Amino acid sequence: MEKITSFTINHLDLLPGIYVSRKDHAGSEVITTFDIRMTAPNREPVMNTAEVHTLEHLTATFLRNHPVFGDKVIYMGPMGCRTGFYLLLAGDYRSADIVALVTEMFEFIRDFEGEVPGASPRDCGNYLDMNLPIAKLIAGRFLDHCLYVIEEKNLVYPE
Ligand SMILES: [Zn+2]
Repeated sequence: MEKITSFTINHLDLLPGIYVSRKDHAGSEVITTFDIRMTAPNREPVMNTAEVHTLEHLTATFLRNHPVFGDKVIYMGPMGCRTGFYLLLAGDYRSADIVALVTEMFEFIRDFEGEVPGASPRDCGNYLDMNLPIAKLIAGRFLDHCLYVIEEKNLVYPE
């Protein structure tokens, strides 16, 4: 079998950032898949599952309710390696097009107070596996170390 595109990315030089992972066509519509990379692969600690799970609930809540992008969101979910997330949007985008959206999303999480949406036995398959304080710390770190100082090297995949 052929190696799929996401396994051909050079993870040795990949930095935290926002990348266009792929574009697919569904009928006449383009779907852009973004790689929201939060930790440097194999060089920084990965996120634990509880904070990944908390980030998943909060990002989904933020995105589905977004006034501009809400109806463009196909999916956002964690990478199995726990270094980031994939975000799928309906439309043909560059990574720079969503820096403001992703910044706003992680500010929402950094500043979030209260009950994690959907963290109940009726609404979730593992509702106790949550860590809001660490999810907030991770969001703040991603903002300070990446999104607030984002450069070309955090927006275009390394060679
Ligand atoms: Zn859940």
